Formats: sequence, C-alpha cells, structure tokens
Amino acid sequence: MAASQSRARRIAVFGGAFDPPHAAHVALARAALADLQLDELRIVPTGHAWHKARPLSPARHRLAMARLAFADLPQVLVDARETERAGPSYTVDTLRELQHEWPDAELFLLLGGDQARALTSWHAWQEIVQTAIICVADRGDEVPTSPRFSAPKPYEPRFRRLPMPALLVSATEIRSRIAAHQALGPLVFEPVARYIEDHHLYQTA
Ligand code: ATP
Repeated sequence: MAASQSRARRIAVFGGAFDPPHAAHVALARAALADLQLDELRIVPTGHAWHKARPLSPARHRLAMARLAFADLPQVLVDARETERAGPSYTVDTLRELQHEWPDAELFLLLGGDQARALTSWHAWQEIVQTAIICVADRGDEVPTSPRFSAPKPYEPRFRRLPMPALLVSATEIRSRIAAHQALGPLVFEPVARYIEDHHLYQTA
C-alpha cells in the first residue's frame, strides 16, 4: 500500500490576497510540497480581507491568476470558498470546513513571516493553532522593528519553519512597478503577466 494511503491525508491551506500571485508565493508552495509530503495544497484567495487596507481586485481575476501561477505544481488546487463566503474572510472558518470535510486529515497552514507575526491578532487564533500546524516562511523583510517571527507560548510545538531562501518580492512592489510601466522580470510567472496586461490590472498605483 502506498504511504499516502496508509497515513492521514495531509492538506495545507495557503491563504492570501494573491493580488497578484508572484514568484515568492510559488516558491513557498514548492517548499511546502517538498518539506511536508502534502497530498493536497489549497490556495485560498481571500474574500473580504479584514486586515488589508486597500480594496482588492475582483475575486474572479485573483482566482484566474492563481490558477495560472500554480498550474505547474502537482497537488495544488485553487479553492474559491473564501471568495464565495459572505462577510469577512476568516481562516478559522476555512479550517473548520476542511476539518468537517476531511475529519481524519492532518491540516497545515502556510504563512509568510509577516502574517505569522500578526497571527495572534487573528480571529480565533488559538483555535487556528490547535487545528493546523503553522508553517512559517521567512520573507527577508525582518528588521529590528519587525523581528524574525517566534512562536507564541505555549504553542511552539504547533509551529515549524519552512525551509526556503528569503525572497524580498511582494505584490505591493509588483503593483507599483506595473503602474510605473517597469519590467516585472521573474517576479511574476509569464502567463500571469500576460493576464495582467490583457485585463489592464494595476494601471494606477
Ligand atoms: P501585499 O504586498 O499586497 O501585502 P503579499 O506579497 O504580502 O501582498 P499576499 O497575497 O498578501 O502577498 O500573501 C499571501 C501569503 O504569502 C502570506 O502568508 C504572505 O506572508 C506570504 N508571502 C507573500 N510574499 C512572500 C515572500 N516574499 N516570502 C514569503 N512569504 C510571502
């Protein structure tokens, strides 16, 4: 019997605005697939993001770009559930739903260091930590005012670091480069760059 059939299904949730999805998002997903022996990695674009000050691009664009960005990765699927949910997008609701759908699965939540540092301000964060193993990727933006993430006590055993080189890319930088008509180079996967151009996204900063 294959290992994946004899052990609990391993499902990771990778949430975010993905406005647009970029090279570091894909690198993080690749690192998680390699490190966590995942059966499934769900990219979950956020609906109404209570923690983002800027209005997000319409969900249909962010979903389409996510499908393009992660198309080459096995076991990755783009999960639209948060964009279809009324009210604020809470990660805990997504984890509860997955736990209900896959009662025997082992759940993982993938986060960049900035989101990990903010985790204890999230709605029902203790339940999140009790439901999923939190896997954190450093972003390379750690500075004295935003030091490297460290796990809150007494939950350290529920956290692990994702081994990947820190990449300083952000969606904010990509949006401002597009608005300034600057090249994106390898920051964005070519099919995503074409989608952005075809749909005239991010034309103003
Ligand atoms: P924005 O610049 O608009 O805030 P972002 O680049 O942070 O966007 P999000 O879609 O908000 O991208 O991020 C989704 C997830 O990916 C978050 O957990 C975030 O921390 C993580 N992430 C984004 N960029 C990186 C990066 N360069 N390295 C590691 N994780 C990242």
